[in-house]
Amino acid sequence: MRLVDTHSHLNEIPDLARELEEAREAGVVAVVAVGMDRESSLETLRLGREHPGFVLPAVGLHPWSLSPEPEADLEFLREHAEVAVALGEVGMDLKIPKPLELQREVLGEVVRVAEEHGKPLLLHTRWAWREVLEEVRGRDLPPSVFHWYSGPEGLVGEILDLGHYLSATPALEYSPPHRSALRVCPVERILLETDAPVRYRGREARPRDVVGSLRALSELKGMEPEEVAVLTTGNAERVFGTRFL
Ligand SMILES: [Zn+2]
Repeated sequence: MRLVDTHSHLNEIPDLARELEEAREAGVVAVVAVGMDRESSLETLRLGREHPGFVLPAVGLHPWSLSPEPEADLEFLREHAEVAVALGEVGMDLKIPKPLELQREVLGEVVRVAEEHGKPLLLHTRWAWREVLEEVRGRDLPPSVFHWYSGPEGLVGEILDLGHYLSATPALEYSPPHRSALRVCPVERILLETDAPVRYRGREARPRDVVGSLRALSELKGMEPEEVAVLTTGNAERVFGTRFL
């Protein structure tokens, strides 16, 4: 089986070399490393150079990491967008005490950078599903990812109509909003991920846990895991414009 973990915070994972080896043994053929800020994004770029073709680096500016003066962070994204496979993690979050207008302005600028470089966005959208959707609507973006989408089912059709994808995490096993959203999304538009090292049911995830995302999605869709693996890895290859070996 060939699987891609399309969203992992590899810089936060201890004993990474061993974890990547275990992921390979579990059938993982690539991991997209996401950044939260300048420091972690420099780290994803370094990991990408260290594991060429296996770790794909994204550079990001997470809403949790926003400073009131984001210009230097945005300049960093402009400078490094070309060497990254995607811009992420970026987006909006209405559950944090950062001004909505600041979040919207920064995401708007990130969208412009993505358009200019033709890079997909890996979008954090917690409680800001509609707001993020409005920021990407009508823009000239490549297919992008609404990461760990757990928003209203009613928006899924609009996200798909704009050409974008949803991603499934190991929480698909038990999270009602994540399940009901992915139930109405065709497998042809779903990527697998772990968001490692996030904890699921008390245990920190690792890239190999993308097998759990696969299992949960196969069960939800009533399909064979082998078939879901082929489809979701094909989706990842389209979004990131790479063929994984
Ligand atoms: Zn994340």
